[in-house]
Amino acid sequence: MALGKDYATQECSIARALEVVGERWTLLVIRDALYGVRRYNDFLGHLGIPRAVLAARLQTLTAEGILEKRRYQESPPRDEYVITDRGIALWPTVRSLGLWGREHFSETQLRVFRHATCGTELGPYGECSVCGTVVPVPDVEMVPGPGLDPDPADPISRALLKPKRLLEPIAIETDSAKPVAADPV
Ligand SMILES: [Zn+2]
Repeated sequence: MALGKDYATQECSIARALEVVGERWTLLVIRDALYGVRRYNDFLGHLGIPRAVLAARLQTLTAEGILEKRRYQESPPRDEYVITDRGIALWPTVRSLGLWGREHFSETQLRVFRHATCGTELGPYGECSVCGTVVPVPDVEMVPGPGLDPDPADPISRALLKPKRLLEPIAIETDSAKPVAADPV
């Protein structure tokens, strides 16, 4: 019997949330969308996720209003997936999971998140201690941390070597010599 994704006996908002974001890969897709990844091939290359799984996750996240499908090219038709306010609201969850993972599994810090306007590294609750405020997601700047591979193979990882704000779309220079796979979603 296949494992269901709902928790029929649980009346709990955590269980309800996990029905939406608790499947394998889902939070990593959301993480990338927060970083500014929008296109199918960019998620694919950066995550190394199986195509069918990515297609299924994008479909669920779109249906749940966490990503919004937007057409960016008519011929041939191509859509990108832009994170919505409902998805952006998951930023504290994604960040807390990262901090927890680092603390309990001694992971090296790959990225540093700071307040873009003053350069202060965010505290554990997403706060800027200098400005005395919780930093809004568009004002969070990500910069490479000490554990980040300085010469990664995929173009999204390369783009993320430069400091950038969250949500700001990542622009990958298109290489016309490379065939682009059709978007199956
Ligand atoms: Zn600040």
